[in-house]
Amino acid sequence: MLNIVLFGPPGAGKGTQSQKIIEKYKLQHLATGDMLRAAIREKSPIGIEAQKYIDKGQLVPDEMVIDLIAAELDNHYEVPGFVFDGFPRTTVQARKLDEMLEVKKAPITVMLALEVDYDELIARLVNRGKISDRTDDQDENVIRSRIDIYNKTTLPVMDYYKTQGKYRGINGMGSIDEIFNRICKVIDSSK
Ligand code: AMP
Repeated sequence: MLNIVLFGPPGAGKGTQSQKIIEKYKLQHLATGDMLRAAIREKSPIGIEAQKYIDKGQLVPDEMVIDLIAAELDNHYEVPGFVFDGFPRTTVQARKLDEMLEVKKAPITVMLALEVDYDELIARLVNRGKISDRTDDQDENVIRSRIDIYNKTTLPVMDYYKTQGKYRGINGMGSIDEIFNRICKVIDSSK
């Protein structure tokens, strides 16, 4: 299996690049942010709980996203691999993901970390707030708080994969296609 963790701060382009990766490599996209937004739209108990955190720019509790991912891994057992987008965001989630994949005998192949300058992230998110209905992109304070949480809580996940020799940094500045070409080179050399 080709299992990719697509990593990076809010606004790094994970969603955009995930779409291109799943199309080219025929992988299954698992994006916890998308799953949570779907739950919010459905007004399910998970959605109602998650919204409290998302609107403040905080991470939802680990168990919540771990359960969502576990269910999706079970739902898709015949795919050639997964793109994990926005997950794991804590080292607890990263360890749990390894455990779940161990059962499937299908470990993470590579972690691709999109690297984008701070000012560019803010500009992209403020712009996305104008054209999408994502409530967490509407307020610049919430945007800055999400990037702070990324730096404090999520960055250690990078070290987790570095220790495993799976981390690959990708320059996330430039056009969508330039970034995608860099990603494909790394994926093709990791397969
Ligand atoms: P995203 O679409 O990936 O930017 O996620 C939007 C929001 O959903 C985040 O700011 C978090 O509040 C929540 N979220 C998404 N994925 C996770 C995760 N793996 N762990 C905790 N919270 C998450």
